[in-house]
Amino acid sequence: MPQKPDQTGNPLITINSRAAERLRSGHVWVYRSDVLNTGKAPAGAIVDVVDGRGRALGTALYSNSSVIALRVLTRKRLRADEVVAQLIPERLREALEYRKKFVHNSDAYRIAFSEADGLPGLIIDRYNELLTLQVLTQAFDRDDLRLSAITGLKSALSPRAIFERVDARIRALEKLPPLEDRLLWPGPNGGAVVGEMTASGPMTDERRPTTVFTLNGVRFHFDALAGQKTGAFLDQRENYAAVERYAHGDAIDCFCYQGGFGLHLARVCASVIGVDSSRPALEIAEQNAQLNQREIEWLEANAFDLLKDQASSGQQYDTVVLDPPAFAKNRASVPTAIRGYKELNLRALKMLRPGGILATCSCSHHVTEADFLAMLASASADSGRTVRILERRGAALDHPTIATIPETSYLKCLICAV
Ligand code: SAH
Repeated sequence: MPQKPDQTGNPLITINSRAAERLRSGHVWVYRSDVLNTGKAPAGAIVDVVDGRGRALGTALYSNSSVIALRVLTRKRLRADEVVAQLIPERLREALEYRKKFVHNSDAYRIAFSEADGLPGLIIDRYNELLTLQVLTQAFDRDDLRLSAITGLKSALSPRAIFERVDARIRALEKLPPLEDRLLWPGPNGGAVVGEMTASGPMTDERRPTTVFTLNGVRFHFDALAGQKTGAFLDQRENYAAVERYAHGDAIDCFCYQGGFGLHLARVCASVIGVDSSRPALEIAEQNAQLNQREIEWLEANAFDLLKDQASSGQQYDTVVLDPPAFAKNRASVPTAIRGYKELNLRALKMLRPGGILATCSCSHHVTEADFLAMLASASADSGRTVRILERRGAALDHPTIATIPETSYLKCLICAV
């Protein structure tokens, strides 16, 4: 039965039938071009969404600058204060329950993955006793929403401190003021939360942004105010362990960052090389190797050039890992990205000894698993090597894929016997 707009006090936004259909089929996004009337909603507002006939579709977060104008929070109609005081804490509790069930043998994992946890625009990661929070929408940049998340995390996890990680590109797209990575909550004895009062003063021991975290028994240094992403590529956690099960002999971890795959390989391989173009990443990688008492040779190089040079000098491996950055940032760049993946994979296949293992990854959402498999088939044919796919994997379970939101699936990891 059609619901009539009631008195939530939220601005009312009308969307067209195409967008309404999309929401009814379980997606949570509404594109700006599908918005009929913004109801004078301010940036980051909590709004009511209705279709052209005035039928209620739910409560959403509004952005006045992103191409994604609305991200639906719930099919119910909630007042802004109910979202802050009830819905956000409840979603956080559910997210934590889910991780308790599905994360094992690690003290670092993603606690909240934006739309995949019903918290559009909020990313929270745990690194042992430190938490990082990242805001990707205007709405979660509001003091009340941010505080609601921080308060929920404090009571559920008693972290030593909470830091904010900034994605400058996203903040610019959302027309949010620039921000630096910062301490958000300085721990139980450290003072107040940002928003109530700015955390300031010297970095006491409690406020120290560093710790050591453990994935599958491998230890990693962490600095909450440095590094890429929110500090580590937690989405590969289960893939590290999976690749380790097949790895052997002489191994190379291409695009190794701080050594995620390489450190796992070093537990089972005779020799391991890690390659990355980022010197700061390799410096941490070496510290990680020492922490785990492993010997790995780190090479600062362009992985494309290095593989080419090594191939021409006859170098061979038993295990090759390829985990490049996202080559396709949008749909238009998919063909170029596929060419890049093929070049890398072809080189790797040619360098593998018989019985070798190739673990090849893509973190571009726009490159589908089917595209990626077709790329691998083509590299396999050109190399004359038979590629047996042992495992088709995705992101670790703390980065859930929602069936009705395909954008929550992005990482592909194929483990192959060559
Ligand atoms: N495998 C890593 C994550 C890789 S992220 C892990 O599990 O932690 C991609 C990495 O590729 C980044 O560290 C970046 O510095 C590096 N990189 C980007 N372009 C590169 C290139 N052309 N050659 C080598 N490394 C590159």
